[in-house]
This record gives sequence, structure tokens and C-alpha cells, in this order.
Amino acid sequence: MAMFKNESHLWQSTCDAFEDEHLPGAVALWTGLYACQECNHEIASNEGDLLPPANHHRHASPEAIRWKLIVYADQRAKEF
Ligand SMILES: [Zn+2]
Repeated sequence: MAMFKNESHLWQSTCDAFEDEHLPGAVALWTGLYACQECNHEIASNEGDLLPPANHHRHASPEAIRWKLIVYADQRAKEF
């Protein structure tokens, strides 16, 4: 499970991007942390990179890897 120390870096979102499931090897639409919906294995990916492939890790069940965005990394610089 993803962890953080300072909650001022995170805020809860209702964005639909967190509901979408992505196939292994698909292009990551967002930069951030993704979790496998079968086993909760977490990875980091950058927007435009390929999500890890189907053989990235194995499951005890025959279910395939399905990646879901769990933390979005906002790359815009803050203006003070
Ligand atoms: Zn998994």
C-alpha cells in the first residue's frame, strides 16, 4: 500500500481517471502510482510510458494484471 508522511502533498480527488483499469503494456495516461487490481502490487509510471507487461508478476489465481491509477503526480510547478 502506498504511504506518505506529509499529508499536505496529497488531496482526495473524485476524478474518473482513478476508476479506469488499464491492460498490461498499455500506454500510461497519467504519471503516478498504479496498483494491480488482483494483488495490489504497486508500480510507478510516467505518462506516455508503457505499463508493465502481462508477465510482470504472477498471481495465484488465473486473473490477469489490470492496472489502476491510485496516486496522480501533479507535475505542474506551483506558483507562489
Ligand atoms: Zn497482480
